[in-house]
Amino acid sequence: MNMNAPSTSFDGGCTCRQVRYRLTSRPLFVNCCHCRWCQRETGTAFALNALIEADRVQLLAGEVEVVDTPSNSGKGQRISRCPTCRIALWSNYGGGGDAIRFIRVGTLDDPDRFPPDVHIFTASKQPWVVLPPGTPAVAEYYKSSELWPAESLERRAAALARVPPR
Ligand SMILES: [Zn+2]
Ligand SMILES: [Zn+2]
Repeated sequence: MNMNAPSTSFDGGCTCRQVRYRLTSRPLFVNCCHCRWCQRETGTAFALNALIEADRVQLLAGEVEVVDTPSNSGKGQRISRCPTCRIALWSNYGGGGDAIRFIRVGTLDDPDRFPPDVHIFTASKQPWVVLPPGTPAVAEYYKSSELWPAESLERRAAALARVPPR
């Protein structure tokens, strides 16, 4: 056993197993997005995204293909997909630049580890989805400074300083 290995890492990948990746720490925050755009892109009721610094995502196998995709904000998002099975593994949004990746939680080997920290865009939540009490929920978006733990805010600030937004 490598004693220098981080104590927490989380592996994931696409359906055909060509692309495999590893998160080298816990994510910053987990957004569950109920917007119409996420509903369309997933073909289901919401998207579950674990936000993490780009340099904490290691590619273990394969390469991703980046697909420029329109987004609700108008700034676009860049979705990284397996070039063979086309499963979306993560995306970057225009506003956040390349520093922060939005990992699709469902592509992790153990997606149960990261339940939502917040439900967003609940104004367009599908009516049958019943949100759990105790998890913050907002009609649209929120200020990170109001919901994120201090450690995550510090990590994000450090990541943005390393990789300035485009
Ligand atoms: Zn694949
Ligand atoms: Zn969304």
